[in-house]
Amino acid sequence: MIELKNINKTYAGGEGGVQALQEISLKISQGEFVAIMGPSGSGKSTLMHVIGLLDRPDSGSYLIEGTEMARLSGDDMARLRNRLFGFVFQQFHLLPRMTAVENAAMPLVYAGKRHLKENASKKIDEVGLGTRARHRPNQMSGGEQQRVAIARSLVNEPAIILADEPTGNLDTKSEEEIMSVLTRLNGEGKTVVIVTHEKEIAEYAKRIILMRDGRIVSDEKKGRSSGGADSGAERIPIKDIICASCKSAGQAQLMDYLRQAASAIFLHKLRTFLSVLGILIGVAAVIAMLALGQGASDTISRQLSSLGSNLILVLPGSSRVHGVAMGTGTVTRFTFQDVDSVRRLTGKVNRAYGGVNGRGQLVYADKNWNTQLEGVGVEYPEMRNAIPAVGRFFTDEELRIRAKVAVIGATVARELFGDENPVNKSIKINLINFKVIGILPAKGASGWHDQDDNVVIPVTTAMYRVLGKDYLDNIFVEVVSPELIEETQEDIKKAIIKNHRLNKEGEDTFQIRNMAELKKTLEETTKTMGLLLGSIAAISLVVGGIGIMNIMLVSVTERTREIGLRKAIGARNVDIMVQFLIEAALIGFIGGITGVLLGSGVSSLIALVAGWAVKLSPFSIILATGFSLIVGIVFGIWPAHQASQLNPIEALRYE
Ligand code: ADP
Repeated sequence: MIELKNINKTYAGGEGGVQALQEISLKISQGEFVAIMGPSGSGKSTLMHVIGLLDRPDSGSYLIEGTEMARLSGDDMARLRNRLFGFVFQQFHLLPRMTAVENAAMPLVYAGKRHLKENASKKIDEVGLGTRARHRPNQMSGGEQQRVAIARSLVNEPAIILADEPTGNLDTKSEEEIMSVLTRLNGEGKTVVIVTHEKEIAEYAKRIILMRDGRIVSDEKKGRSSGGADSGAERIPIKDIICASCKSAGQAQLMDYLRQAASAIFLHKLRTFLSVLGILIGVAAVIAMLALGQGASDTISRQLSSLGSNLILVLPGSSRVHGVAMGTGTVTRFTFQDVDSVRRLTGKVNRAYGGVNGRGQLVYADKNWNTQLEGVGVEYPEMRNAIPAVGRFFTDEELRIRAKVAVIGATVARELFGDENPVNKSIKINLINFKVIGILPAKGASGWHDQDDNVVIPVTTAMYRVLGKDYLDNIFVEVVSPELIEETQEDIKKAIIKNHRLNKEGEDTFQIRNMAELKKTLEETTKTMGLLLGSIAAISLVVGGIGIMNIMLVSVTERTREIGLRKAIGARNVDIMVQFLIEAALIGFIGGITGVLLGSGVSSLIALVAGWAVKLSPFSIILATGFSLIVGIVFGIWPAHQASQLNPIEALRYE
């Protein structure tokens, strides 16, 4: 069944290296019970690793059922380790976080036979641990742990059991138990190869191979060997194992990986939490800021559209640099004459009014309130979508006689009057007595600006009685239809230039804005803010990714022996790689999800406490989680690759 011819293996190190195996030639038939003996360092383990396809020899030929092993790919070697061999190690190599049955079932994952899970329970029963199937390794004695390892080696019904000093760590009683299990298995037809340096253990075997300095010095069969000649024995379908498995049957299932990743993560809750902190905070910050920004810009654009798209705003000062006057610093001061000449643009202009702005200190009874004071024309309610909800607006006549009447915003009404009806009450604005004649409709807050915190009075009263201004601060113009906006803007410009006898340079002393422009500015601001948030997100994701990479590297180092074991029982490089990648992705995902939750929570809290408009977009949530997941994968690649490239033997020996 197994045939080694002139096998050599030299380890680097020392002078000319260590010749662990020299010209080893050996045949083992099916059903044999072989003990490989010899002093420490004689090459026993190395020989067993070569036989078990855990290591490749430097030269020589190794045939199993006539198939040359030297030509096999790493993946095929893994498949054969999984199906053909069962390994039992001196240190048991059980995974501490799994129960006995789960440990025994591990090779099934890599055989794609997860559904045969009861097989693992059966094997646990067979080694006499039926009652302890749900126990974890640390709840069992050494002998029991080794029996679990034997059950694990049997679960894929291998033809050959390879045991490396299986009783090395055990007391005499456990030793006897283990050896009787192995003897029974041999009686059932399994080939058993055991490495030992103890004579008593070797006594159980039917053939003893003695090694010294990398050579076989004797090879004795005891009595009439029952195994021997392969004649009657069933042949092992090597080609089928290699080929049946290469058609995906050998792939472990995604669910298994996920379960493994989850259990590894939950084992180290604090560590996982700390490693996702970067991603968590970044995602939370971005989600919260996006929600606030989106909320604010939504409110503003809603208000802008309620104003109508055919409004034009004429302002003093240059528009060249964000409204700050440049050059000579001269500013055109608007008068009512300008408003009249704009009104005269019939067919283009529907209505227009000039206005002034200032602050007003309001007093009613013992209450004080500082607010925005607007002097406007009678056209204000129609043009600005602000027909009083309660009471009335002022009239032409009141405007003409500079009447001391005021229409107040909802916030002002609430602050000064509480539950009282403000209409017809007398208040003081900047120490001047006014009569409240109406309340403006509530418009709501936009971000940090409360639109209902204002008071509106006739522009004439504002200029000459309250604020002491001789010129208008702005002119609002309503154009007949949006298509005429550009044309009308030109006409207004000409009219004002003519009124003020401005020259070419003077054109820059006032500016004309329309709502479409304002909307564009708003969109640009939103875009800039988006870019800013995007870069914050990118930085935090990179920082978070490095955190994940760090923790994954630690995890790989920490679980080196686990990786070695998984490889020994048949995990291919890609299986290990995928396992660690999924773990990294899961960590990233957890960071993303908790970040989204935290961010949503914080923004909702702000909305509640500060009363700002907040809008969570599902798109940003999906994007944030998706990116966190991707970051996990990207930064997990390197550690996962490191893990997959580990040499199984070195990994198993790792302390
Ligand atoms: P045994 O199992 O009989 O104790 P081994 O097969 O483990 O012997 O080792 C045989 C020889 O090879 C020893 O001299 C040992 O020091 C050497 N050796 C084993 N593994 C390595 C390795 N990874 N690197 C270098 N030398 C090694």
